[in-house]
Amino acid sequence: MKTKFIFVTGGVLSSLGKGLAAASIAALLKSRNMQVTIQKLDPYINVDPGTMNPFQHGEVYVTDDGAETDLDLGHYERYLGAPMAQYNNYTSGSIYNSVINKERRGDYLGGTVQVIPHVTDEIKKVVRDVGRKGEDVAIIEIGGTVGDIEGQPFLEAIRQLRSDLGKENVLYIHLTLVPYMRAAGELKTKPTQHSVKELRSIGIQPDIILCRSEVELSEDLKAKIALFCSVEHDAVFSAVDVDNIYKVPLTFYREGLDQKIAIMLRLPAKNPDLSDWRDLVYRLENAEGRVRIGIVGKYVDLTEAYKSLHEALVHGGVANRLAVELVYVNAEELSPENLDSRLKELDGILVPGGFGYRGVEGKILASGYARREKIPFFGICLGLHSAVIEFARNVLDLPKANSGEFVPDSPDPVIYLMTEWYDVRNQCLQKRDASSDKGGTMRLGSYPCVLQEGSKARAAYGRELIHERHRHRYEFNKDYAERFEAKGMVLSGCSPDETLVEIIEVEDHPWFVGCQFHPEFKSNPMEAHPLFRDFIKAARENQTS
Ligand code: GLN
Repeated sequence: MKTKFIFVTGGVLSSLGKGLAAASIAALLKSRNMQVTIQKLDPYINVDPGTMNPFQHGEVYVTDDGAETDLDLGHYERYLGAPMAQYNNYTSGSIYNSVINKERRGDYLGGTVQVIPHVTDEIKKVVRDVGRKGEDVAIIEIGGTVGDIEGQPFLEAIRQLRSDLGKENVLYIHLTLVPYMRAAGELKTKPTQHSVKELRSIGIQPDIILCRSEVELSEDLKAKIALFCSVEHDAVFSAVDVDNIYKVPLTFYREGLDQKIAIMLRLPAKNPDLSDWRDLVYRLENAEGRVRIGIVGKYVDLTEAYKSLHEALVHGGVANRLAVELVYVNAEELSPENLDSRLKELDGILVPGGFGYRGVEGKILASGYARREKIPFFGICLGLHSAVIEFARNVLDLPKANSGEFVPDSPDPVIYLMTEWYDVRNQCLQKRDASSDKGGTMRLGSYPCVLQEGSKARAAYGRELIHERHRHRYEFNKDYAERFEAKGMVLSGCSPDETLVEIIEVEDHPWFVGCQFHPEFKSNPMEAHPLFRDFIKAARENQTS
């Protein structure tokens, strides 16, 4: 069977949950035994979100192949349970980049290079390529809102694709907002009508309208939207607000959305098996206890910056039948004086990844507090760096220990930039220039790690060889390895060639683990990441000990 394409656009305003809607549709089709893939097309000019400030853009999600992508890809992986790759995310910047490269190479044979057809052809190519494994369905989410100037080439490309691929192989779903006017006590359809009009003005007639609203749409209201927007009455769906994002697939299912999609695209859909989603929602709503986890970070006002982390902690809770209360602690506000009052109520402390010196001394203080007070501690990437620096300063008695990222000429660079290392994933020798502005290229994507027998990490994973995703430049400095080990730090995970330290643990502590990689990217609601599962378990045990 040829891959069928579902294009998801958004209208009225942003933040309606288009990514979650696309991911939920993917989950539902998968539950009907279909092979599904998803792609996000982002209209901004950045080639990828790697250089974007998390304050503005939220988390940068990293895939196995080392792509720095939009955070919606995290939702796709979590809902679909399948890994994403570079080809699942393109931006206007990346599309223009390849068009301009082709132009410079002379591929256009001296022709005038234009948005139509050259840019739109490039977009159509990447869209068609996403179903490369012969998936039954490819869901393509167009970022931004209909009417944005930046999004127009993408919309034009998907308009053309209907004739290129055949009507029976393409479906357009438009997500809009149906606001509830409290004063009038009614839902308003006008913004939806306008947004659909906008879409039709560029030649796209939606097949399905998905209406985000506070309350369910009545049949009368659906009929009205259907009439004004020229869609079938039973192709208008409520996407009503839910208190938990993992309820969205079941909500859509109850509305009959996936069934309608299957009919419209003539998909050979089996009856869905949604038992795992039901089980998940049941577990979320029937927790047997609660743990308080402190996230000591920099972006405490913008939790989107820690999206996957947040979800991975929820998954860890689900695996232990516990609700997880997240307490964001601003690292910059921590001082030796207020440490105890700020952190003592927490059952577990997590220091997440990050870049730059701001807040690092607070993270170092927090990891020291967790170590001394025997509070379960989980350090991720910069969190591992903080824990290592703290241990060096206070246990190894190296008061000036630091990371090369913060103090380039530290006398004790316990975390440093490896100027030369063998990159097993890309199979080449990587060289970095410490004096260059950005300190060289990052270690990105999936790398293998061997776990030491008897360690907490090994107990969590239950196997020796693991693969985890990275996004950093600095590493544990192995010159100090023996000194750390002599004082009770276990280097429990290393690269197979033993040059890179990937996991550290502290002995004589209930659970103190730091990892150089980002385990949160691989956690799944149906199967929590082993480190998050065990961290939450340790936090629970800490309550009763
Ligand atoms: N800033 C640190 C580095 O580049 C840590 C990065 C991270 O936490 N992802 O090595």
